[in-house]
Amino acid sequence: MTEKLLTEQARRQEDVRANYLEITQRIAQAAGKTGRKPEDITFLAATKTVEPEIINYAISLGLKTIGENRVQEMLSKYDAYDLEHADLQFIGHLQKNKVRQIVGKVSMIQSVDSEKLAEEISRQSTKNGLVTDVLVEVNIGREENKSGVLEEEIDELLAKMAGLEGIRVKGLMSVPPVCGSKQEIFKYFDKMYKIFIDNSGKKMDNISMDFLSMGMSDDYTEAILSGANMIRVGSALFGARIYR
Ligand SMILES: *Cc1c(COP(=O)(O)O)cnc(C)c1O
Repeated sequence: MTEKLLTEQARRQEDVRANYLEITQRIAQAAGKTGRKPEDITFLAATKTVEPEIINYAISLGLKTIGENRVQEMLSKYDAYDLEHADLQFIGHLQKNKVRQIVGKVSMIQSVDSEKLAEEISRQSTKNGLVTDVLVEVNIGREENKSGVLEEEIDELLAKMAGLEGIRVKGLMSVPPVCGSKQEIFKYFDKMYKIFIDNSGKKMDNISMDFLSMGMSDDYTEAILSGANMIRVGSALFGARIYR
């Protein structure tokens, strides 16, 4: 490696290290304000476009959960992740015909938004002697081009998922609309939290509300204050994404 590349890598690592410290501190503060401990909040790093070397560096700092959102990219990086020290999850839109390629490789699929997709994950899991943990993705902003089920569709989907042996529903996930103000983002987060709590009170086979996954680089503090216990942070940790 040339000296120039070395310094570049060292600088990159220094940035990630500083960002990691800042994010974990902010998580601890927000958790404290809601009567929780830092370890009650799962800090998932969204690793799309990030090279495995940098991802593994973040893992060496203490990061325990990573999430990819494209099947192809995840598979191409798969052998390089340090999965002895971190958990890999799938957080992106998932096509049914690609389920087979990721079942058994990820500890959770966060983006289930249809019965058909849930059935396929269950089928592929059963075939491999596995049960896959999943979250139901909710389109809380009712946006046309976004994945996720609408609020009023959640009950029916959960009822169907309860009967699938190869999956276990572990909670809810959401990517709210881009908001112009904190007030607006709180409105969506609070709505999600209410849905989460409402469903926590129900008794259904195969379904537990362990995780409420919401909040990204710009709003993870607000998400935690609203009750999220899993945040998905990309650019605030790794810097702006460079798409190649
Ligand atoms: C990329 C991504 C994130 C993180 O986005 P940032 O704004 O970079 O923090 C979170 N969730 C999903 C589903 C993503 O694809």
